[in-house]
Amino acid sequence: MDGLNKSIYEIGSDSAFSIMARSNQLIKEGKEVINLGIGQPDFPTPKNIVEAAIKALKDGHHGYTSSNGILELREAIASDFYKRNKVNIDPNEILVTPGGKAVIFYTLLMFGQPEAEIITPDPGFIAYKSMIDYMGAKIVPLPHRMENNFSFDADELLSLITDKTKLIILNSPANPTGGVVPFKELEKLANGLEKYPNLFILSDEIYSRILFDKHKHISLKSFPAISDRVIVLDGWSKTYAMTGWRLGYGIFPNRIFNYAEKLAINCHSCVNVASQYAGIEALNGSQIEVDNMIKEFDKRRKFLVSELNLIEEINCVLPGGAFYVFPKIKKSGLSSKSISNYLLENKYVATVPGSSFGKNGEGFLRISYASNITNLKKSVLYIKEFINE
Ligand code: PLP
Repeated sequence: MDGLNKSIYEIGSDSAFSIMARSNQLIKEGKEVINLGIGQPDFPTPKNIVEAAIKALKDGHHGYTSSNGILELREAIASDFYKRNKVNIDPNEILVTPGGKAVIFYTLLMFGQPEAEIITPDPGFIAYKSMIDYMGAKIVPLPHRMENNFSFDADELLSLITDKTKLIILNSPANPTGGVVPFKELEKLANGLEKYPNLFILSDEIYSRILFDKHKHISLKSFPAISDRVIVLDGWSKTYAMTGWRLGYGIFPNRIFNYAEKLAINCHSCVNVASQYAGIEALNGSQIEVDNMIKEFDKRRKFLVSELNLIEEINCVLPGGAFYVFPKIKKSGLSSKSISNYLLENKYVATVPGSSFGKNGEGFLRISYASNITNLKKSVLYIKEFINE
């Protein structure tokens, strides 16, 4: 169509949302769909957080706030970040955003010019690719292999850097695999990046609280050699079951903060004020419900992985974080898209095809275990039925 910016044809979408729409349509038609497609906790937002938002509205907080977010919230973020990572963050480097996705959007508006090469996890979160394509930049896929527990190899990453590389995107714990990058790999990477002082890294740490076994979160911001060019993305959506509140944040290093803030002012002005007050309560209030949610995810994770591995054609690693498993499924010649589609249309189990997350995701399915054990049990049965058909 004449008049449209050509780049709009390049922008992709998130198949998890189209699969959710199709699931909802099937539900309307009376089908009992088990939704293991969308990446959102199946728990309600803890009550104390909801109450804080209601109180804010009742107290008359109805107007714009400063575009970077209210100071009390940014201080709570800095203090939470220090508690978890032992890194001091200046609240003036924190931009509160309507969800973590806005941090991806703004970062790629800043770094994604044509000719720029952007190293991106493959398989990796869909929004990275969509935005890189939209900006006309070039994706340089960084494989995250099953043999490597879906981590990356720092030497391989460093070997992908050229003089056109403008940004590296990393995500641990990861969507879609649940993979966690070990400390030694991050350390090797940070050391290797010392010789590229202009190269920025977007570290998507949105699942940093959802970790299992002995895994501990290590923020890329905690490596002094690179910390002044690490942009951290985090937020409330996953940790506090707040996907619909649209609340996230970016820590943007001082030298680029101003640009991120200008993008925010021109786009969203500020995040809705009730969500911001809810965010303060989430960080400063009791964490018991978060801990319980993680314990429940852990049970489901172990159940699902052991059950899936009993099926001969399926091979599934035990992920260290997030709430996804990423099994490899062999079913004579079928693509992951056909498998996911078949499961939804015939067994009413929604999953996301691995190929949606990049070339290296082909042959896999993303299964979100943000659903109760009864549903997970049923789903395993249906998957087994499908494999045997
Ligand atoms: N980053 C990753 C890796 C995600 O999986 C998601 C959500 O699915 C986001 C960022 C965005 O989260 P939000 O809902 O806060 O925008």
